[in-house]
Amino acid sequence: MEFDFTETQQSFRLEVLAWLAANVPAELRGRGFASSRADLEAVRRLRDWQRTLYKAGYVGMDWPTEYGGRGASLVEQVMFYEEMSRAQAPQPLNRSGLSMLGPTLMKHGTAAQKGRHLDRILTAEEIWCQGFSEPNAGSDLANLQTRAVLDGDWYVLNGQKVWTSMAHVADWGFFLVRTDPAAAKHKGITFLLLDMRSPGVTIRPLRQITGEAEFNEVFLDNVRVPAANVVGKVNEGWGVAITTLSYERDVLTMIRHISLRTALERLIALAKRTRRNGQLASAEPVIRQKLAGLMVAERCLQLNGYRSLTKILKGGAPGPEGSTSKLFWSQVDQDLAEIATEVIGPYSQIAAGSPWAVDEGQWEFYCCLARGSGIRAGTTEILRNILGERVLGLPKD
Ligand SMILES: Cc1cc2nc3c(=O)[nH]c(=O)nc-3n(C[C@H](O)[C@H](O)[C@H](O)COP(=O)(O)OP(=O)(O)OC[C@H]3O[C@@H](n4cnc5c(N)ncnc54)[C@H](O)[C@@H]3O)c2cc1C
Repeated sequence: MEFDFTETQQSFRLEVLAWLAANVPAELRGRGFASSRADLEAVRRLRDWQRTLYKAGYVGMDWPTEYGGRGASLVEQVMFYEEMSRAQAPQPLNRSGLSMLGPTLMKHGTAAQKGRHLDRILTAEEIWCQGFSEPNAGSDLANLQTRAVLDGDWYVLNGQKVWTSMAHVADWGFFLVRTDPAAAKHKGITFLLLDMRSPGVTIRPLRQITGEAEFNEVFLDNVRVPAANVVGKVNEGWGVAITTLSYERDVLTMIRHISLRTALERLIALAKRTRRNGQLASAEPVIRQKLAGLMVAERCLQLNGYRSLTKILKGGAPGPEGSTSKLFWSQVDQDLAEIATEVIGPYSQIAAGSPWAVDEGQWEFYCCLARGSGIRAGTTEILRNILGERVLGLPKD
């Protein structure tokens, strides 16, 4: 593992610092933390923000230049996210496209698919969603039942997806469908690209614990998708999905961890200005101890992230060990939310919109949002199974 940055990397950091200081719009500064991706107006602003970042060369930095990226290494990409976090700037909106579908298409997509979509993912012209989960296929994803039947040059889709984040604003989705119901569970699945405005697609928002509806049910009734939209081989979509999921658990977790650091810095600042029982929360030994615990955990996440990064930089692909970061991140994220609640006290329950809400209710939002951290991108129990069986080599039962 290499801890020192090169001179070129250091000067890149300074360049980014100066650019962010001059370019983060005032209405977005500070909104990278506990922010909404459900509200249509917020999404429009974030789409514009991604376009600004793209024009400056800061989106898809680790993507090869032939695909519209900067051809920089993942290190510069991570540095950029770190500086964005310090500048309290929101991250690019099109996270599923940039961190999951983009790398998947580069590995498994046809020339036409790459040519059609990669540029538009970068510019946020196409916002993408992930249509994997179904009512009876969450942890047991290979149980998915959405059917795709070949009719000439088209697949006809029927079924239902659920928990599809951003589907209500997405232009396209990458979906897993069953193309051979007679085959074994993990076989007979195909990965395909779906235009979310196709006739027969119905999107119903689901209200979450935060009060917002960022994820959705997606119903597919005789939806026609060109056979040319299949990524990889028909009936071999499980392997393609594994690529997507490893990026979700590895690179995306690294990005989530950087957001967690922003939250921790805000929490420390909060403890330094919140008075309880006649003294500052930051002066209370128990709170101090808990904050120190969070700082140690955050540092462990950073080092583990660097370990994965080093592996990828040396030509490896994200592997099951990326699950360690996701598992630990979700635990630290929930601990952080709980400690914020302790620091604030009963006022922590007051949501945005009330004059009594601390930090405009962003902590209340964060605490509710954190409930999902141990569920999305693989539940805590499933990640423990993966680590036990595939990394530690423990017996299956
Ligand atoms: C905020 C958020 C955003 C999401 N966004 C998306 C999205 O954009 N696209 C998408 O496709 N999905 C999305 N999901 C869905 C997510 O991937 C699933 O919720 C997750 O995979 C769990 O599936 P499930 O909800 O069906 O729960 P289940 O699989 O039914 O699990 C229920 C409980 O049983 C436990 N369990 C299940 N099987 C086992 C086992 N073998 N051993 C031990 N314990 C087990 C689980 O850990 C869990 O606690 C999102 C979820 C959340 C919370």
